[in-house]
Parts: sequence; C-alpha cells; structure tokens
Amino acid sequence: MLNNRIITFILVISIVCCSFVVFASERNTITTADQILKELYQKYITLKTGKNADYIPELAKVNPNYFGIAIVTVDGKIYSIGDVNVPFAIESISKPFVYALALQDNGEQFITDKIGLNATGHRFNSVPAIEEKPDHLQNPLVNAGAIQITSTIKGKTSADKWQRVLNLMQQLSDGKPFLGDAVYQSEMTTNQHNRAIAELLESYKMMHGNPLDAVDRYTKACSVMVTAKQLALMGATFANGGINPLTHQSIISRGYVRDALSIMVVNGLYENSGAWWWKVGLPAKSGVGGGIVAIIPAKMAIVVFSPPLDEAGNSVRGQAVIEEISHQWKLHLLS
Ligand code: GLU
Repeated sequence: MLNNRIITFILVISIVCCSFVVFASERNTITTADQILKELYQKYITLKTGKNADYIPELAKVNPNYFGIAIVTVDGKIYSIGDVNVPFAIESISKPFVYALALQDNGEQFITDKIGLNATGHRFNSVPAIEEKPDHLQNPLVNAGAIQITSTIKGKTSADKWQRVLNLMQQLSDGKPFLGDAVYQSEMTTNQHNRAIAELLESYKMMHGNPLDAVDRYTKACSVMVTAKQLALMGATFANGGINPLTHQSIISRGYVRDALSIMVVNGLYENSGAWWWKVGLPAKSGVGGGIVAIIPAKMAIVVFSPPLDEAGNSVRGQAVIEEISHQWKLHLLS
C-alpha cells in the first residue's frame, strides 16, 4: 500500500518535471528566436544602401523603409518582426513555385530538355545570355526561362492556366495571395524587354503557344501580392517537402520541390548566386519587389522584405539578415 503511494508520488513528480522541462525549452526557443529577430531588426534598420527597382514604375513608389522579417517552421510556428503584414509584389520569387507546377504538369525530362539548368552569369533579363549559347537554353529562374516555363503550364484557356498558377500560390500559403492590379498594369506598360525575349525564344521555337500570351501570364505571376508571413509559409511548404504546414495539404510532390530548391542554389540570387551559396549555403530566391526567401529543408523558411536592391537586383537588407541568421544558427547546408 505504502509502496503504491510512493510509486504514484514519484510518477506524478516525474510528469510534472518533464512537462516543465518541455515547456521551458519550448519557451526558450521562442524567446531566443524572437530575441534574435529583434536584435537583427534593430541592427539592420540602419543599413540604408540600395535603391528600389524603378524600371517598373509601381515598384519605385513602394516605401523604401518597409522592413520585415518572418520565419515559418515546418511545424507551423511563426516568428516575425516589422512590416510582415504589408503586401508586396512577389516578382521573381514566383519563379521556383511556378517551375514546380510546370514539372508537375509536364515531367522532369520535358522541362529540363527545353529550359536548361545552368547559371547564365548574366543579368536576370539578359538577351546576350540567350544569344551566346548555341542551344539558347537558360534556366527557370531568369526571365527567359521563366517565360518559357509559364508557356508550358496546362489549362484549357489562358485564363485557366493563370488561375492554376494563382491557386498554386494560394494553396502553398494561407489562401490569400492576390493579383496586384496596379503592379500588373504598371509592368504590362513597361515590359517591352520581356516581350522581346519571348519573341526571340519563339524565333528559336522554344515557346509553347502564343509567346505574348505567356508574357501576360508571367507578368501576372510576378504581380501576385504577398506579405512576408505569407511568403514564409510558401517557403515552409517547400521546406516541408511540398506539404503545407498549416493545412497539411500536399501541394507539390517532394521530388519536384527538390528540383526547385536545386535550381534556387544555381541561380536564386542571379549573378550573385555563387557568392551567396559560399557565404550562406541555403537555397534562396529574391525578387525586385524587395522580397527574399531562403529555405532550410525539413526546418523552416526565412523571408525578409525590404525594397532597396543592390546592383544585381537583390534586397540589400534581405541578404544581410539571412546571411547573419545562417551564421548564428549554423544553417549552411554543407557545414
Ligand atoms: N517581373 C520582373 C521582370 O520581369 C521580375 C524580375 C525579378 O524580380 O527579378 O523583370
């Protein structure tokens, strides 16, 4: 009898202690992550170099002081600071996601043969990059490759094809990314360069369907508005092998997510991709709207939104913050 009481007492004490340890370590992680984000935010808010993209007039109007950092983990935890609920144009960050959809629609062989996999070493919208290669192949993350990718998305009509791209971005996130009409109109009146790229690719028989129709849908994909938190959830879905950590829905097959992450290593930060991989060691993608997402497979996604860009078109603060997080948390995938 006495023995039973002692055993029950020991059991109760153990359970209480274990719960306390779990609670305390959970609390500690949260406090640490929140504390680190606060410190980084305060440190990098003083970094004022770079300048908004202005070749798309609507992007030049965005407040350059916006600064937000968001992290979403594969188990759906969210840590954030700053302007993380301000919608901004996803721009080129749409590219790896649309690439994954194109792989799902057409298979790896078809897409790889038609689009290419190697870094161009040129600016994101380079025409010489297309001309100088005898096979003209680019990759899915520069404008030429992404416009081609868009042309392969399946659907009965052009509107269906576009709707599938928007649905994808919504399902990867919280259902709320939307087409930013002002950015789309602004980009459509100034995208002669992209139209020229599409026609050039068409002259080499590298487009599927009407090239200008593909440019229109490509421009819509770039004009999707997301917040830093929503984009971090999209990234976390990729980190989680294509399964949305909040809805638990499988959106993209794991193998195609791996393909998309691989191409982000190759060309995610345009011609700075080599230096980025060396320093940070994380697949990432930037956009001229000032966003940047880095993905840590099986762990989390980190997003920074800060519009001023460097010469290559990458957010200045975004690169600095993610580089520092990678060092502090030892996230480099080769370390
Ligand atoms: N819509 C932009 C363009 O086509 C995307 C560029 C980017 O974000 O790198 O120029």
